[in-house]
Amino acid sequence: MTTGRTGQQADARVRKRGGRHSRKKSHKAQWFSVTALAVLGTVVVMHPDAAGRRSLAAEVIAGTNAPAASTPVATPAPAPIATPTQKFTTPLRPAPSLTRKPKSSKPNVTVSTGRLAVVPGFAKASGVKDKLTYRVEIEQGVSLNGPAVAAIIHQTLTDPRGWQAIHPVNFERTDKVDADLRIILATPTLTDKLCLPLDTGGEVSCRVDDRAVLNAKRWLYAVPAYGGNVALYRNYLVNHEVGHALGHGHSTCTQAKTPAPVMMQQTMGLGGCLPNAWPTIKAT
Ligand SMILES: [Zn+2]
Repeated sequence: MTTGRTGQQADARVRKRGGRHSRKKSHKAQWFSVTALAVLGTVVVMHPDAAGRRSLAAEVIAGTNAPAASTPVATPAPAPIATPTQKFTTPLRPAPSLTRKPKSSKPNVTVSTGRLAVVPGFAKASGVKDKLTYRVEIEQGVSLNGPAVAAIIHQTLTDPRGWQAIHPVNFERTDKVDADLRIILATPTLTDKLCLPLDTGGEVSCRVDDRAVLNAKRWLYAVPAYGGNVALYRNYLVNHEVGHALGHGHSTCTQAKTPAPVMMQQTMGLGGCLPNAWPTIKAT
């Protein structure tokens, strides 16, 4: 296909040849005028083809008779101008990563503010009968994500292996003040205060009155007996303390290498049993 630009180039060659023929048969004035026309024609035609290839002017001249010519002419235009500018200015700016302070790699579970904040949100009970509402509270300043903690707690309480399967209860999460149960994540310092008169020694968790107090240190690091399975230990922690709220007392490991009862104080040790977070899973 012939584009507008190549069409103009063809015209220029015809004009040059015409100039040479005129010089042989005519006098100087004609020769000069024809040559001048040829040169002028060359200049006019060569401009869009060479220097003006990437300019808007070239597009206007060349594209008049053939709109398809505008695409290859326009596409590469800005690149050669922008690239050297970026290369020149970028190294002059300090790298942002060098000016930022490194993030603390150790989450806070020990610095106690003593102030609790309710995690807002609701999660409806699966049934209306035997509904037990609970509220999640986290000590301010502790390195825990409230919605994530609340989600783990609700998943644990409504898990098919959980209390709902064997106990007449349906857990519903609320953020209202009249919740039946408060599930609290707190530093060891505040845990010890909220658990009084029980002695939690800065290490363990408790349930007192309407409070299930989960030690944030245990929530983050679990215990060695769980072999790094922090998620399973969190399930245990929730089910154990809420089990107390449902009226269940402590039990012990009665057969080694079988699942530990959820109401065993597994944080203190497993007594030869295997880690277990679920009330429906028992030694057989
Ligand atoms: Zn207990």
